Amino acid sequence: ARKRDGKNGLRIFDTGMLDAARERHEIEQCIEAGLKEDWFEAWLQPIVNLGDGQIVGFEALMRLNHPERGLLAPGKIINIAEETGTIGRIGERVLERAIGHLATISRLDGTQDTYLAINFSPLQFELTLPHKLAALLLKHHIAPQRIVIEITEAVLMLDNPEVHAVLKQLNEFGCRIALDDFGTGYSSLSYLNRFPVDIVKVDQSFTRSLSSSAADVRRKSRMLIKGIRTISHQMGCTVVAEGIESKEQWQLLRKLGVDYGQGYLFSRPLPIGGMLTMLENESEAKASASN
Ligand code: C2E
Ligand code: MG
Ligand code: MG
Ligand code: MG
Repeated sequence: ARKRDGKNGLRIFDTGMLDAARERHEIEQCIEAGLKEDWFEAWLQPIVNLGDGQIVGFEALMRLNHPERGLLAPGKIINIAEETGTIGRIGERVLERAIGHLATISRLDGTQDTYLAINFSPLQFELTLPHKLAALLLKHHIAPQRIVIEITEAVLMLDNPEVHAVLKQLNEFGCRIALDDFGTGYSSLSYLNRFPVDIVKVDQSFTRSLSSSAADVRRKSRMLIKGIRTISHQMGCTVVAEGIESKEQWQLLRKLGVDYGQGYLFSRPLPIGGMLTMLENESEAKASASN
């Protein structure tokens, strides 16, 4: 966005409005072009077992890769795509890409046990989703048990029978459901009771608070994480911590009983090429360590 400083409040306000409208228009055009020219990519970030650091899965994160302008992150895209109704088509592209990537990784490393977590907006839960997903999984020889549907409270808060029916179908089909950004919404705990949630993703703000400069904040965030972990485990859910950037955070979260984690400490989200290189280097390092 072009940010200009005005001489008075009014001018800033006006320019701001124009800029926002202009930026929005450009993003809308990028989305349309991206769908037409196939610029949408699914980048991957590994999710690791906090006990031994081994990769247990990958989260697919959408990127719009404009050939001239570069990358557009989901924060810039999703709201607009939801408003203009393109989110469904974008989601399908990302889903197709991501499942293809999981198949590629499995083919190369010969394992079939890592999972793929995919983020879904409320508006993506169309009645046709389970069928489309099933067809993709069949095409790529991926078991439905390897797919995790990441939703936020926003999806459940809709209280839309169609959404619930689709979630139930996906769950019966074998896919797991993760509650993303857990602890940031309004009534998270009741959702654990009412929906087939398998995985709880503790929001990255909790991880960040573990490294706060204030001892009180650090102590309280440890208690909150421990509480979320205890309740989640009692409900039969696996717990994942987001946003791990330091070894200290990793060790603390492990001690607090959190099962899995993801964050820049382990790896940033990478395009498939970068991810394959990383996995190859890792397996070479492991091979030479055991020789
Ligand atoms: P999320 O699902 O909670 O994803 C985690 C976000 O945290 C990602 O941002 C990721 O790049 C970032 N992250 C990972 N590790 C770290 C870390 O150690 N430190 C920090 N500061 N950040 C970290 P990203 O890729 O910009 O995605 C933002 C949000 O956009 C996602 O939050 C998700 O809600 C949404 N999103 C991403 N891809 C899709 C998609 O394909 N469909 C839909 N509907 N939403 C998506
Ligand atoms: Mg997510
Ligand atoms: Mg999250
Ligand atoms: Mg988030």
